[in-house]
Amino acid sequence: MDRPRDEAPPGRLVYVETYGCQMNVYDSAAIVGLLGAHGWRQTDDPDRADALLLNTCSVREHAEHRVISRLGELRQRYARDGRRALLGVCGCMAERLAGVLVQGRRIADLAVGVDQYDRLAELLEIALRAGPQEPAPIAIGHRGDAHYVAPPAANPANNSHLVTIHKGCDYRCTYCVVPLTRGPQREKAPEVILAEVAAVVAAGGVEVTLLGQNVTAYRCGEALDFAGLLERVAAVPGLRRVRFLTGHPRDLSDRLLRAIGADPAICPWLHVPAQSGSDRVLKRMKRLYGRADYLRMVEKARAWIPQVTFSGDFIVGFPGETDADFRDTLELVRGVGYDTIFSFKYSARPGTPAARLPDDVSQTTKRERLAALMAAQDEAWRQLAAAQVGQTVRAAVEARARRGAGWWRLRTTNNRKVVLPLRDGAVGQEHEVLITGFKDTTFLGEAAAGPRARRGDGSCGS
Ligand code: SF4
Repeated sequence: MDRPRDEAPPGRLVYVETYGCQMNVYDSAAIVGLLGAHGWRQTDDPDRADALLLNTCSVREHAEHRVISRLGELRQRYARDGRRALLGVCGCMAERLAGVLVQGRRIADLAVGVDQYDRLAELLEIALRAGPQEPAPIAIGHRGDAHYVAPPAANPANNSHLVTIHKGCDYRCTYCVVPLTRGPQREKAPEVILAEVAAVVAAGGVEVTLLGQNVTAYRCGEALDFAGLLERVAAVPGLRRVRFLTGHPRDLSDRLLRAIGADPAICPWLHVPAQSGSDRVLKRMKRLYGRADYLRMVEKARAWIPQVTFSGDFIVGFPGETDADFRDTLELVRGVGYDTIFSFKYSARPGTPAARLPDDVSQTTKRERLAALMAAQDEAWRQLAAAQVGQTVRAAVEARARRGAGWWRLRTTNNRKVVLPLRDGAVGQEHEVLITGFKDTTFLGEAAAGPRARRGDGSCGS
């Protein structure tokens, strides 16, 4: 019997290389699942692959440069070795640069955007059959119905299974390329999300991280907002913990903060990018909140969510950022007390509104501000960490620690790493831990009591 047109011959291997955010990690797993249904198998050896897919990121110039140089390196290797796999570009760079990548110098053999992965098997077959003079397949553009479901991962990072709940973003932060590459915000249906979480539990998972460019803006009709979704996910039988990434400060409503504080299964960790501490810069970034709004949100979170911790993102050297603006950012970082910040030098992304502004902060100043911001964060963190010594926290086992035999690495519900010796380190098991010290961003601890029985223990599969 003839194979369906888009089905790979038995034994075709695909290697997927992921760049950028956790949503790409999830999408890569979904891609492998979708291709698996058409006869492709995943390999972890790029040299054995029939097709190499780079799932890419456009958020920063540097991320795109890495992919371009990786493609160049692969091309060179293929020319030298005489063996050639198909090179595909997926994700944000495919949306933004498909023409450049697959036409002209033909750096890649196909380009497939974030809403077209259900066509990937068919497009790979077309690309495999195409001669060098034939046009390479391109599939880009946004579709409301394009939501993919990744199967539960065998070994998820930090023992937390990723579940994407929506795509795209309706906000228009002036520096951000996401609305261009990922399109408008489109929600995955709550029933699909809940089924995915139930599948994670059925596969032995105990924790999920809900993902989206702007998860806190999730809304399905009038009835269900992100707080409601979070409550429903946290109530899935057998699930012990739910985290989420990334929140927008404007959407951290009182209702959401109180919902997080009320349910011990919802982890008290907020990743809420401030981007700047200066009202003037925030306005130019179109972030839709001011410094005072942000600080008010932090204050309420501290009041209503026991043990809450914060992490955030910052951009230094945004067009027009003065020394005084930057001092406001330093002050915000010192005032909030983040566990971690991810800070970047501004680089203009083509097509964004900010790219039309003069990039008038010199590279030297950007470098100096970045160093000053990191130093301020280090100092703020040391004070925060020192205050934890002597406290008892709840943490789940993730993996063996490199510190030596019998040592395990755990993660607290509020997303702090702690290592300690344990007699029995079952992954996912929760323990009460006494914090005894810290080194950099890792705490040292000792078991304060035996493993905790939590909601869902012992009722597996019911
Ligand atoms: S909210 Fe986030 S994803 Fe959306 S435009 Fe702003 S920075 Fe980009």
